[in-house]
Amino acid sequence: LNRRLNGLGTTIFAEMSALATATGAINLGQGFPDTDGPESVREAAVRALREGHGNQYPPGPGIPELRAAISDHQRRFYDLSFDPDTDVLVTAGATEAIAATMLALLEPGDEVIAFEPFYDSYAACIAMAGAKRVPLTLRAPSFRPDLDELRALINPRTRLLLLNTPHNPTGMVLTSDEQSAIAALAVEHDLLVVTDEVYEHLVYEGVHRPIAALPGMRERTVSISSAGKTFSFTGWKVGWVTADGPLIAAVRTAKQYLTYVSAGPFQYAVAEALRLPDTYFDNFRTDHRRKRDLLGDGLRAAGFEVYQPQGTYFITTDITPLGEKDAYAFCRALPERCGVVAVPNSVFYDNPEAGRSQVRFTFCKREDVLAEATSRLQHLA
Ligand code: PMP
Ligand code: GLN
Repeated sequence: LNRRLNGLGTTIFAEMSALATATGAINLGQGFPDTDGPESVREAAVRALREGHGNQYPPGPGIPELRAAISDHQRRFYDLSFDPDTDVLVTAGATEAIAATMLALLEPGDEVIAFEPFYDSYAACIAMAGAKRVPLTLRAPSFRPDLDELRALINPRTRLLLLNTPHNPTGMVLTSDEQSAIAALAVEHDLLVVTDEVYEHLVYEGVHRPIAALPGMRERTVSISSAGKTFSFTGWKVGWVTADGPLIAAVRTAKQYLTYVSAGPFQYAVAEALRLPDTYFDNFRTDHRRKRDLLGDGLRAAGFEVYQPQGTYFITTDITPLGEKDAYAFCRALPERCGVVAVPNSVFYDNPEAGRSQVRFTFCKREDVLAEATSRLQHLA
C-alpha cells in the first residue's frame, strides 16, 4: 500500500457489516435500507435489461435520458438550470463523483477544508489526490459549523471547501445563513466548493437549499448526489454531478479513467425515478421522520444521549451516560451484548479524542426492525 493510503485500511462500514453478518445482529451500522425502492423503478431496470438498453457501454457522461432527468430534477426542486449536455455527469455512485472531483480539481499540496466528522471517503480521496485535509470540527450537541473558525482555517494553500449537507453522520443541515456566509468566504478567497447532497430529500427540520443557487457560487460549485439514498437503491451505484461546463469537463476527464462509464440499465431506471411525483418524495421524507422518532425515543429510553438529526437517516448518540467512553470498543462489543450493530463516529475524526464516545445508528430500516433493535438496547445499562 502506498503512503497516501496509509491508515485507510478497511472502511468502518465494511468492518461493521461483516460483524453483523458474522453475529446475526441487527445492522444499524452501514446506511442501507432493508426495503428496496419503488417497484415501478425496479421494473424499469428489468425492462431496460430485456430490451437491450444499456447492456453495452453507455455514453461516457451518462445516457441522455438520465442527464435530462437530473437537469429537470434540479429545476423542479431548486429552480436551478443545468444544461444536460454540458453541465451534468453520471457517475458510479456519489463515491465515484467525490473521487473524480478530487482527482480532477486538486494539485498535490492543496488544502481542502471539510467538516469533521468526515464521511470516510473524503479523507481517502483527498489523500489519493495528494492534497491535505484540514478539518473544521463540528461539535456536539448542535454540530453547527463555527464560521469564525472556518475563516481562520483559510490560507493561500486552501483550494477547496468540501461541504456535506445534510451531514453524515451528525444529521446537521446547514441553514440559509450559514450557506450564505460560507458562500461569501468562497467568493472572497476564490475557493472551489464541492457539496455532497446525497441526503437532499431527507430533511426534517428546515429545508435543503443547494449552495450552487447562491450569488457567485454557480461557477465555483460542484454538486454531488445519488440515487442510492433518495430511491433506496444503494446497490445500483448511480450518482451524478452538476456544475458549470468547465468543471464538469474536468471531472469527466478523471471519471473516464476511473470507470470509463457507469453501468447502463440502471441509468434508464433512475431516469424514471427522478420523475416520480412529489408524493413519492414527500412520503419518503415522512416515513423517515417517523423512523427517526421511533429510533430516537428508543435510544433515549435506553440511556443514550441523543443528538436530534435535522436530516439524513442517521442518529449520532453519546454513550457517556451509559458509563461507556470508547465508541469503537463499544461497537465491537455491542453485537455480543445485545445483538445490534452500530458505527463508532470516532473513526470519522482526525483527532481521535473528538468523537471518542459518539456512536451512530441508522434508521433506514423497517419499523418492526427498529422496534426490535431498540428493545434489545434497553438491557445495556
Ligand atoms: N456521501 C455521503 C455523505 C454518504 O453518506 C454516502 C453514502 N453512502 C455517499 C456519499 C456515497 O454514495 P453512493 O452510495 O452513491 O456512492
Ligand atoms: N453512506 C453509508 C453510511 O454512511 C455507507 C456507504 C459505504 O458503505 N461506503 O453508512
